[in-house]
Amino acid sequence: MNYRNLFEGIDSLVKLENNQYALPINFDNGATTPPLKSVVDIVNKNIQNYGPIARGLGQKGDYCTEEFEAARDYLLEFFNLKNSNTHTVIYTKSTTEGLNLLSKVLIKNKDDIVLTTRMEHHANDLPWRYAASVEYVETDTLGRVRIEDIERKLIKHCGHVKYVAITAASNVTGYINTINKIAQICHKYGAQIIVDGAQIVAHREVNMLGHNKEDQIDFLVFSAHKAYAPFGSGAIIGLKDDLNSNNPFLKGGGCVKGVFDSYVTWEEVPHRLEAGTQNFFGVIAMAKALKDLKEIGFKNISDHENNIKNHILGEINKIKNVICYGDIQNTDDRLGVISFNIKNKNYEEVASYFANKYAIALRCGKFCAHPYVDRLIGVTSSISYIDILDDDWKIGMIRASLGLYNTIEEADKFLNILEHIANTNN
Ligand code: PLP
Repeated sequence: MNYRNLFEGIDSLVKLENNQYALPINFDNGATTPPLKSVVDIVNKNIQNYGPIARGLGQKGDYCTEEFEAARDYLLEFFNLKNSNTHTVIYTKSTTEGLNLLSKVLIKNKDDIVLTTRMEHHANDLPWRYAASVEYVETDTLGRVRIEDIERKLIKHCGHVKYVAITAASNVTGYINTINKIAQICHKYGAQIIVDGAQIVAHREVNMLGHNKEDQIDFLVFSAHKAYAPFGSGAIIGLKDDLNSNNPFLKGGGCVKGVFDSYVTWEEVPHRLEAGTQNFFGVIAMAKALKDLKEIGFKNISDHENNIKNHILGEINKIKNVICYGDIQNTDDRLGVISFNIKNKNYEEVASYFANKYAIALRCGKFCAHPYVDRLIGVTSSISYIDILDDDWKIGMIRASLGLYNTIEEADKFLNILEHIANTNN
């Protein structure tokens, strides 16, 4: 199956360093994705005729308010929480903002214990470090989160862990964490689960309701720009009562019932946590992208992406001098996110070569997940950075991350060039 005709802007030629033009290959979908055509259409249609949301009484404003709230209802439905009376949707600008908001609103005391993991993007690590008392769940030698370590730490703290903040999928290795199963473990010991959904939402179905109350997801956060909609919108889907339990993260218009000379009364969520004018276009674009993904079907999406992923993982291992991180034998629990290095070659130079000579976009560095990348590469606290400066290829990686519009032919081109680079001397 080929999904390319659903996407906008992926077939425009780009200029290479030799001034020739080439059709680009985008293998950097883990960072951001191009938009669906339907998403561009909905933004174009609405940008010509918009009005204030939840303020004023004009027809344009009424229309926008209706669409804005319909998108909120759809987000609940998308995560299997249709008509939920436990969860609500808070619009944000990104996953990073969503996790920071949760750390401010949910944590009341610096001594509250939060477990997070060594697999996390900084967005799901740093907000907790600054708000709470954090403990880390380790990863194993292949980079998977040690689920048994979550339970061990929950037991060790005798029911005092408030939250377990964990990613649904890694932006470095693509490992998928079994969030409903982990939720069950958390709930058994009185903790709630906070899921970083940034990498999962466009690639696998997420069932926040679960099968029963035990395995439901309490909070999930994601960004639209990793799911075929533009930058600047995202959401928190989370438990209403808990989100109502503190003062707003941002304070201003729209989040208050009343402002008096010496005190303020706050609205209930969602408006309580949505101060200021909201990103209407971002929100309707996000809802449209998710609707279309659901229509394409997550079985079709995962079959297509798994096919390309398995092809790359099967072949990359055969290329001499290439080191591929994570498990390349058992790959069912991995998204199409493949991180690698070429021995004795600088990762930045390799990624630039792909981009400048062949218009193949990859990501390189530590992907905002320094502790995890260090562990995968084998930099531990016993080896200092000074010791490895001569081997600087070791302190970063190159990442290929797949999207729905990528093809096996693109994968083959990427593999051929990789083999060529890995087997030449400069
Ligand atoms: N979490 C994960 C797993 C990510 O991959 C990213 C972005 O790459 C983020 C959080 C942060 O997302 P954003 O930059 O949209 O806030």
